[in-house]
Amino acid sequence: MAKGNCSDSVIAVDMGGSNLRIALFDGDGIVRYAKTVTPREGGGPEIYADAIIDLIRSSLSAEEIASAKAVGVSVPGPLDMEKGELIHSPNLLFPVIPIKAPLEEAFKKPVFVMNDTNCGVLGEVGQDGEGCEGFRNNVVYISMSTGIGGGIFADGHLLLGNTGNAGEVGHLYVDGTYSVRCSCGHTGHWEGYASGRGIPHFFRAYCRKNHIPVKCSAILPTAEDIFAGIREELSRGVNNEDDEGAGGCDCDCDRGVFSGFYEELSKINARAISSITAAYSPAVIILDGSVAANNGELIIAGILKYLDKYLPAPEIRLSRLEGKAPLYGAAYCCALSLGGYNVHGENRSADTHTQY
Ligand SMILES: [Zn+2]
Repeated sequence: MAKGNCSDSVIAVDMGGSNLRIALFDGDGIVRYAKTVTPREGGGPEIYADAIIDLIRSSLSAEEIASAKAVGVSVPGPLDMEKGELIHSPNLLFPVIPIKAPLEEAFKKPVFVMNDTNCGVLGEVGQDGEGCEGFRNNVVYISMSTGIGGGIFADGHLLLGNTGNAGEVGHLYVDGTYSVRCSCGHTGHWEGYASGRGIPHFFRAYCRKNHIPVKCSAILPTAEDIFAGIREELSRGVNNEDDEGAGGCDCDCDRGVFSGFYEELSKINARAISSITAAYSPAVIILDGSVAANNGELIIAGILKYLDKYLPAPEIRLSRLEGKAPLYGAAYCCALSLGGYNVHGENRSADTHTQY
């Protein structure tokens, strides 16, 4: 957590689709950290809260738990923030999963629940710069992993929108040519093209549209394999403009299949980032999630190549928090909610609670 008048200790939880992580924070950062596997089966919806409670109790001393002022929990959305319940979260087992009430009952202290990308942007804002003076007021956080989600920090406030879904940038419309279907059921959405789940589908659609033999589109099913193909072709100097024996697949299609796809993927990513820049005018856009973390250099270079030039380009960079941005954000959410600390580094306890 950022330096400043936020010295109270808090417990942060990051409940991901596969990993459950907790950390004890004091004013200087993480004091203790533990991780386990998110429950996948057995029992009812209470298994998630029970797993969090068990991990906290087995990782922290009774004194540490007792002295923490609050528990902040980052969860996959969507959720009912007031009730602290997950509602129809796509990768979890139950339609309604209560988190806030069982944790409050177990620990007898305030529990704040927020979706992971909103926690992510809070974590980045809280860690950006040196201490309270370093906060930037306009930050967009984008997680590119199985899906794509975002958190928007605009004019010094977390932007939630009418239903708390203001940062759902994965469902921005970016393409009417390939008609790739998104996980939400619609076509043309960014997530359907550029997420870990979407890239293979977009790659196959690209091959079909360009009459590249099915053999090419069938051999590399994962996003990481496709990025490896892109890297391999680029390292050999293959590009899609070079049609003379460039190769790139086992058949005789004579073109750089992956480098050609990379250009199209970059256009798609740049369209989304251009729209985000137009809508929010961020100083910095921070990319996180496994797809961005593993392929950040390619993704960012592609975005910069095709970003709309009439817009002042924000800084675009990878997260430096090693996948822990939502965990930092969960802690920071507590600090904000408890009052006395806000993103400007001022003590404004009277109105901090209503800031987000
Ligand atoms: Zn969608």
